[in-house]
Amino acid sequence: MKVEEIRLLIASGTIEKFYNDRKWRNLSKKIKKRDNNECQMCKRRGKYSKAQNVHHIKELKDCPVLAYDEDNLESLCISCHNEEHPEKLEKFKKLEPKFMNEERW
Ligand SMILES: [Zn+2]
Ligand SMILES: [Zn+2]
Repeated sequence: MKVEEIRLLIASGTIEKFYNDRKWRNLSKKIKKRDNNECQMCKRRGKYSKAQNVHHIKELKDCPVLAYDEDNLESLCISCHNEEHPEKLEKFKKLEPKFMNEERW
């Protein structure tokens, strides 16, 4: 996927197409392998967690040119990845009470 295409996806709010693209999927597998399937943030904190996501250190929407730059990518676990994306986490928190009402209480 070319930088211009990525920019278009960002502008139209359909960036998930980037993440579903084969090139990204192959690269993210490679990055996880490079990082031994280990969350790099937890590793820096002296903990071990299995890597579940590959994160753009400089955000994709800010730096689409670095979309496939291996130096701009690192493997993270879900909770560290959420820390890196506080906006998404906020959305998730808002959903949580409803979810708990239905499932637990
Ligand atoms: Zn982690
Ligand atoms: Zn990320």
